[in-house]
Amino acid sequence: MRGKGNRPSQPLACRHTMRSMPTRKPVKPDVGRLDRVVAEARKARDEREDSYRGRALRLYPWICGRCAREFDHTNVHELTVHHKDHNHDHNPLDGSNWELLCLYCHDNEHQRQLDTRPLTRRAEHSAGATHAPFADLASLLKRDD
Ligand SMILES: [Zn+2]
Ligand SMILES: [Zn+2]
Repeated sequence: MRGKGNRPSQPLACRHTMRSMPTRKPVKPDVGRLDRVVAEARKARDEREDSYRGRALRLYPWICGRCAREFDHTNVHELTVHHKDHNHDHNPLDGSNWELLCLYCHDNEHQRQLDTRPLTRRAEHSAGATHAPFADLASLLKRDD
């Protein structure tokens, strides 16, 4: 009983679990560690986004690729990086997968991809979905933002 903060009253890893996973050391639940892992993952993601965003902003003029709205330092946070192939992890350094879009156009861009969701009345009225609905599922699952 060293004062390492109060532990939650839930049982530690039960014998059960340990027996079914013999390769695993009986690690005690370490909330602080989990927090750190989450924080690190978040930081890594932020850094990644930061770096490709920063790069994209250096590569391209600060203009929305759809509505041609221009941006400056006061509102550049509304300018976002869209991945043309919708794959966040595909970040070629020449910027060929990036497109700068304002928040609104970016949203629109994704709505077009996600039109399996009954968002618009138009979709309800005209059941004219000519494409396979499941084709969009993949992009839905790994949508970027
Ligand atoms: Zn725009
Ligand atoms: Zn996007």
